[in-house]
Amino acid sequence: MPPEPTTTDARPAYVEVALDLPVDRLFTYRVPAEQRTHADVGHRVLVPFRGRSLMGFVAGVGDAEPDFKVLDVREAPDAHALLGPELLELGRFIARYYGTSLGEALAAMVPRGVRHKGKGHRRRRVTLADDAKAVERDAAGKLSEPQQRILRRLRKHPEGFLLTDLCRAAHVSVSPVQTLAKHGIVALTTERSHGDALEEAAREAPHTEPLDPTDDQRRSIDALIAALDAERYRTFLLLGVTGSGKTEVYLQAMARCIAQGRQAIVLVPEIALTPQTVKRFRGRFDRVAVLHSGMTDAERAKAWRRIKAGEADVVIGPRSAIFAPVPRLGLLVVDEEHETSFKQQNAPRYHARDVGLVRAKAAGAVVVLGSATPALESYKNALDGRYELLDLPRRVGGRSLPSVQIVDRTSGEERQRRRAHIGRTLEIRMREALTAGGQVILLQNRRGYATSVACPRCGFLVECKHCDVTLTFHRSDAVAMCHLCGHERRVPGACPDCALPRLEFRGVGTQTVEEELEALFPDARVARMDSDSMATRDAYEDVLGRFEAGAIDVLVGTQMIAKGLDFPNVRLVGIVSADTALALPDFRAGERTFGLLAQVSGRAGRGDADGRVVVQTTMPNHPAIQLAAEQDYPKFARGALEDREQFGYPPFRRLLRVVVRGKRPEAVADRARDVQQVIVRSASPRAEILGPAVPPIGRVQGFHRQQVIVKAPEPREIATVVRALRAAKRPQRGVEEAWDVDPVGVL
Ligand code: ADP
Ligand code: ZN
Repeated sequence: MPPEPTTTDARPAYVEVALDLPVDRLFTYRVPAEQRTHADVGHRVLVPFRGRSLMGFVAGVGDAEPDFKVLDVREAPDAHALLGPELLELGRFIARYYGTSLGEALAAMVPRGVRHKGKGHRRRRVTLADDAKAVERDAAGKLSEPQQRILRRLRKHPEGFLLTDLCRAAHVSVSPVQTLAKHGIVALTTERSHGDALEEAAREAPHTEPLDPTDDQRRSIDALIAALDAERYRTFLLLGVTGSGKTEVYLQAMARCIAQGRQAIVLVPEIALTPQTVKRFRGRFDRVAVLHSGMTDAERAKAWRRIKAGEADVVIGPRSAIFAPVPRLGLLVVDEEHETSFKQQNAPRYHARDVGLVRAKAAGAVVVLGSATPALESYKNALDGRYELLDLPRRVGGRSLPSVQIVDRTSGEERQRRRAHIGRTLEIRMREALTAGGQVILLQNRRGYATSVACPRCGFLVECKHCDVTLTFHRSDAVAMCHLCGHERRVPGACPDCALPRLEFRGVGTQTVEEELEALFPDARVARMDSDSMATRDAYEDVLGRFEAGAIDVLVGTQMIAKGLDFPNVRLVGIVSADTALALPDFRAGERTFGLLAQVSGRAGRGDADGRVVVQTTMPNHPAIQLAAEQDYPKFARGALEDREQFGYPPFRRLLRVVVRGKRPEAVADRARDVQQVIVRSASPRAEILGPAVPPIGRVQGFHRQQVIVKAPEPREIATVVRALRAAKRPQRGVEEAWDVDPVGVL
């Protein structure tokens, strides 16, 4: 008879499990003897919950038998903990700070393919199988609007879409696609994932040697290396104008971190995660792991395990890469740290930069926040000495910043042609640049053809059925489309109110600009880059590749084209209308406008020829526009910080935004009042409570909305309110509630 294994008895008999449920507690289970070696803190466990099996994480263990009845753990599948103490602690911080359960926080941190045994090595592709059937069902009125939206896109793209891309482009869930597949109208096929452009870029990247740093770069690199050598937490704000060589600073600091046997994480905005970016890191270091949204669950899980095993020295990715399980974090780089895409827009609504600071502090790591236009929060921290400011005030190679010309669109000579969006000056500058063999980037930060369709007589506006916004007309598809929910409709031939037979298109979008370019520059090769034309990642990379190769002369697009691109032949950047973002009723409107203008201007003159920028505006004296033209961030920031202080906005106040939504406006209003009451009772006397009020867009996707905003001087005052809200009674059925700590906007 073999001896009884004695080790099992030393293992905990009970575990506290964090489940991905919006319930603010852990759940206790008993561990059967045979599972005990695998059920410890940080391990996954499969447990019974209300007749289902849920996967959760062990957050605590104990031997004392609880005084209530507990169920048994069903399975503890892993020999090793998936989560080390560091990430578990980070999860606790996120849950506490952003107001979710620990299970919800951990679910956001650990990729799905790791939490559940991922089989998803394949991607699903959708193609049109039988258009005749589709037409028939449509004629019989059997196709829903989402189904029609899907079909319209598939007719335009016979090669089909990856399922995820299609759902995003058509604003639909998977279910209408499945219904269409069931009726044999679309075909769903699986294809083996064969790597993607980013991986190829990584493989092909030629090896690069460190560049000889400029004096400015040298100072920054030295400071970072000294901090790394001290192996203590410290944060630096690298304020570097566009083209000042921030990346080289990151790279040389990373080399030191790797030499110490520690790992570096680089966060970049998703849109900036291009082959061009990846090559720069991969060319310098061998063991680079790239995380991105196009990966399958299985690919992501594989990368996660590699990273956890210490097989990657550098991890580069968007927001969620902050949770990469590197064994010893030495350096965290947040590039373009002002980008709002670092904030997650569903629960937990975490900000990757802020979470990164917490993680780095615990790990004794060095943080570099890099930007030409930092968030005012970060800049204030630098001014106050909480961060150390590193300054790169000049472009490398003696290049000068582009000269910026502000053009007043209201002045007479700019408005020669009717409905011309490219004014005289911009047209002349474009001709000069193109004649000289240069390339041009044109920014118009609205997609579509007309941002509204209106009746010139009675003022009727074509609006969304589900949202309180006007529909944007898309000429290429001949439909009016809602940019919030994807609803589409044909534009009526006559005004439904007064019967005037001609509606008017108003407002400029990228398609309008594209059309005008065809008329003005018939010989130029023009490409448009916005989320309509770039439904897939491949399309995006294809256009960037052709632009780089010189096969495109003019690139017109939304903010997609403003970020991080480094193309030396761009002589001119034109901003068709700088007013778009300024008009938004949001406290960050000025900061965003300044940032966008400075970033897109920074695309010009990165090669040997000087760059020029033309900014068209109807508000030539607005400080955000004036100072963006001067590229004087510190001056802009001083003024903007004064305004923030005067009106009580971040960084002088912390914000909490509670949004209540539901189909029935009275139920929403009732709940919003209850929320306000909870806040009034729990908030400190110094807190300011705004609302309940209907936000600027009162109805989205058929949901009515109300919001309450809390402003308080200290983060812990916000935390108290969040705790009270979590402890309060849940909203009634049909009403949802979301709280957003440190919101990036209040629209
Ligand atoms: P930023 O991110 O600050 O806009 P980049 O890192 O893209 O600037 O650098 C701009 C260009 O300058 C890149 O092409 C880069 O390779 C080049 N560069 C950076 N540092 C040096 C250096 N020390 N010597 C020569 N070229 C450099
Ligand atoms: Zn809508």
